[in-house]
Amino acid sequence: KLSNRLKIVGDFVPQNSRLLDVGSDHAYLPINLLKNGKISYAIAGEVVDGPYQSAAANVKSQGLSDKIDVRLANGLEAFTEEDNIDTITIAGMGGSLISQILDAGKEKLHSIDNLVLQPNNSERNLRIWLQENGFSIVDEVILEENGKIYEVIFSKHGESNLNETQIEFGPFLNQEKSQVFKKKWMRELEKQNKILKNLRENSQDSHRVKEIEANIQFIEENL
Ligand code: SAM
Repeated sequence: KLSNRLKIVGDFVPQNSRLLDVGSDHAYLPINLLKNGKISYAIAGEVVDGPYQSAAANVKSQGLSDKIDVRLANGLEAFTEEDNIDTITIAGMGGSLISQILDAGKEKLHSIDNLVLQPNNSERNLRIWLQENGFSIVDEVILEENGKIYEVIFSKHGESNLNETQIEFGPFLNQEKSQVFKKKWMRELEKQNKILKNLRENSQDSHRVKEIEANIQFIEENL
């Protein structure tokens, strides 16, 4: 059974997609989507040998070796034009790493219709990358699982013009302001307040103090 986090990632994958799952680890996501008839074909990409072996073993034991190719490859190097991939999922990594992976293979993204991205942090870096590279965000979800809060970003080719608030908080998430969203930003507010207290007690760095005060104000305005 999939974690709720991966289930929500999978929910964004359109019916009958040909999927590349980058950093597939155990390959749970493509295995689940195939078994549920959501997709017809997937590549499970892994750059590290251990997870690659684990993905290959799981795909084999599920009898799906003819429908899921497990490939040892860095990022978007896992697919070629001949694979006719239309959807890419990248989940469970930092937002900056996801941006780097997309950036390193960006000339291959013209044939991709759907990006489903689940950054564990640095969501703003990813939103900036998407906007600067001709992708727009078409939906977002925020969820909590085992005490951790995750964001899922669904993106397609398109122009967008997000302002600083939308980049930071997410255009859809900030509109919706769910309980989980509020929890995430309350936590961040607490963190920034601690930093501020510490700075005031232990440092003379007035520039840094101003910076943290601005962060706090920005969060408070959007809670
Ligand atoms: N996607 C799964 C999930 O969300 O549960 C697994 C997440 S796991 C924490 C991250 C995986 O990404 C690791 O197995 C790691 O080896 C892989 N990874 C990191 N950088 C990668 C890259 N450049 N190309 C392919 N895989 C990568």
